[in-house]
Amino acid sequence: MLVEASNFHAVKPTRKSLESTPAETKQKMFFCFLATRCILKIGRTEIVKFCVLASGSSGNAALLATDQTRILVDAGLSMRELARRLSLIGEDIEALDAIVVTHEHTDHISGLPVLARSKRIRAVIYATRLCAPQIDWGVTAPALQTFQAGASFQIGDIEVASFSVPHDSVDPVGFCLVAGGLKFGIATDLGYVPESIKYHLRYTDVLVLEANHDLDMLKVGPYPWSVKQRVMSRVGHLSNLGMSEFLMEDLDASTEHLILGHLSEHNNHPEIVRLVANEVLQRRGLATRLAVACQNAPSPVLQF
Ligand SMILES: [Zn+2]
Ligand SMILES: [Zn+2]
Repeated sequence: MLVEASNFHAVKPTRKSLESTPAETKQKMFFCFLATRCILKIGRTEIVKFCVLASGSSGNAALLATDQTRILVDAGLSMRELARRLSLIGEDIEALDAIVVTHEHTDHISGLPVLARSKRIRAVIYATRLCAPQIDWGVTAPALQTFQAGASFQIGDIEVASFSVPHDSVDPVGFCLVAGGLKFGIATDLGYVPESIKYHLRYTDVLVLEANHDLDMLKVGPYPWSVKQRVMSRVGHLSNLGMSEFLMEDLDASTEHLILGHLSEHNNHPEIVRLVANEVLQRRGLATRLAVACQNAPSPVLQF
C-alpha cells in the first residue's frame, strides 16, 4: 500500500503536466474540428450536389449546387455542350448563379466569352484581377467580379476560398468551396503540390486532384521534347507520382470522395491512375471512395 501511495504521489500532476503538449493540443483541435463538422452535417437539411462535368486537356468544368446557389468552376466546353451536360444531371444552364475561373488556358475558358455575352445567362463571372484581362472576351469585356488570388468570398450560401497554384498561366488558382458544412477542394493544373496547397486541402470531404500523366508514358509519348519539359516542370501538370505522394503523405483520412482528373489523353490511362491511387489508399487503410473523371461525360453525381 505504501508503495502504491508513494507511486501515486510520484505521478501527481504538476501544473506543467496538466498543460497539453503541442501534439495533444493539435489532437484536441482535430477532434473539436471533427465534432463541429459532424454537428454541421447532422444539422444539414438542404441537398448539396457536386459533379465534374468534364475533365482533361480538351475541356474542364464542375458544378457545385445547393438549394439556393449554383456555381460552375471553369467553363472549358462550348455553351451548347455545357448546357447538354448540365441537363444530363438535371440542371439548367440558365439557373447558374456564378462561374468561377481557375485560369485562362483554353481548356478552362473556351465557353466563357459566349456565356458572358448570352442574354440567357445571368451567372456572374469571377476571375482573378490578373487572369481576367488575359481572356479574349470578344467585342466588349463583360461585367466581371475580380478577386485577388488567395482571397475568400461568399456566393449565395457557398463560401469560396481561392489559393494560388504553380502553373504556367498568368495568375492560376484552385478553389475550396464550402456548402452545407461540406468542403470541396479543386486542385488541377499544378506542377507540384506546395505546402500552402496541402494546408488549403486539409479536411476536404470531396477532393478533385490532378493525375495528369504517367512519367514513363510521357517520356516515350508523342509530344515534342519542349512540351514534355513543360508538362513535367514545376509549373506544368501533376504526374501520377506527384498525386500518389500527396495521397500517401497528405490526404486526410476524413476525405470521403477522391476524384482524380485532368488525365492526359496520350500520356496516361484511367486504369493506371486507378491502380496507383488504390494501392496507396489500401496501404494507408483508407475507405476513401475513388473516381476517375473523364473528358467525354460527366462523372457520377455526388449528392449529400
Ligand atoms: Zn492550364
Ligand atoms: Zn487544364
